[in-house]
Amino acid sequence: MIQAAPISKGLNVEAIRKEFPILERLVKGKPLIYLDNAATSQKPQSVIDALTEYYSGYNANIHRGIHTLAEEATAAFERSRDTARDFIGANVREEIIFTRGTTEGINLVAYTWGRQNIHAGDEIIISGLEHHSNIVPWQILCEEKKAVLKVIPINDKGELVLEKFDELLSSKTKLVAVAHVSNALGTINPVKYIIDAAHNVGAKVLIDGAQSSVHLDIDVQDLDCDFFAFSSHKVYGPTGVGVLYGKKSILELMPPFQGGGEMIKEVTFEKTIYNELPYKYEAGTPNIGDTVAFKAALDFVNRIGKENIKRHEDELLEYATSELLQIPDLKIIGTSAEKASVISFVIDRIHPQDLGILLDNNGIAVRTGHHCAQPLMDTFCIPGTVRASFAVYNTIHEIDELVAGLRKAIKMLA
Ligand SMILES: *Cc1c(COP(=O)(O)O)cnc(C)c1O
Repeated sequence: MIQAAPISKGLNVEAIRKEFPILERLVKGKPLIYLDNAATSQKPQSVIDALTEYYSGYNANIHRGIHTLAEEATAAFERSRDTARDFIGANVREEIIFTRGTTEGINLVAYTWGRQNIHAGDEIIISGLEHHSNIVPWQILCEEKKAVLKVIPINDKGELVLEKFDELLSSKTKLVAVAHVSNALGTINPVKYIIDAAHNVGAKVLIDGAQSSVHLDIDVQDLDCDFFAFSSHKVYGPTGVGVLYGKKSILELMPPFQGGGEMIKEVTFEKTIYNELPYKYEAGTPNIGDTVAFKAALDFVNRIGKENIKRHEDELLEYATSELLQIPDLKIIGTSAEKASVISFVIDRIHPQDLGILLDNNGIAVRTGHHCAQPLMDTFCIPGTVRASFAVYNTIHEIDELVAGLRKAIKMLA
């Protein structure tokens, strides 16, 4: 395994970049400038190594084997659970359920807790800036149960209108499900306020942490949320793994999600006794290799430090915002006072997709389109935006290249 040098105070971004082999590649003959981190982050060598070491060293099915490989694989898999528990400040390891990602975590809650606890006439509140994966599962549930989905509106800065949220809350509210950080606009939502207010009317709260888990320090006990879902692949880890955190007292009362191996204690044709937490919600052979490598990603973030990462990303955000605003006819969509390192923008009379293609010709990867948040785009009356989202390995120089690339593209398209 490559042992990277410890990083002291100020961030040594050049050293960090060397840990990401993909950043050395060329795209269309130009050095890759990867600004699509809100879609998925790149992976450090330690994550790639962990995956290779698993498959070349101790690949085996977990939990039931007594041979050496099975024991090693089980131990590594469970170490990932402990690291994930520490990463979000959960109380006990039983509260950490491995999933395929944020989407599956939210669906798990909808199909188990939701089916058990949502009844006709109940209300579920989401917000106007949710990702489709925190909209559609609740629509399906509401339709099935004849429950009502309510939406917290947003203002023209892309912030939630909290007075409206307060008005929506009532004894009918059973669940509030909101994103901690918007993937499309970067808005950091005041989730602490939302959680406390929801609890005051007896509602449970699910936080979509797909973006916040990489940008902010997470402490689920301090937040006091009931559920928190995030994805490994947005925190420098592999795809196909995620975590659903749930309070133990709630998880214990929920019915299982999928039936199969691993989630059972005893099966007869008459009756099945379910396994204890967290295995009750982990039916079938999990994604062992990627889950093992996920630990290396969390170790990477911990080694650099969330505080240091945030300081660097805030610098990039501030610089990029002021530089982009100097481009004529460019409008930033999402100007919340509290923002993570995501910038969405549009340029008058130019389609986002055309900009995206011309930027790619310069090796610059941005996302264009609706960012899985079509209702949000409708609110701003736009079909989509160009989105640049920054990670720990991005630099001021890369932002200069983005701005230069945009100016060049505008000249060609105007
Ligand atoms: C990416 C994302 C999701 C979905 O995550 P998957 O990894 O695709 O399951 C949900 N919510 C937000 C805010 C996201 O950014």
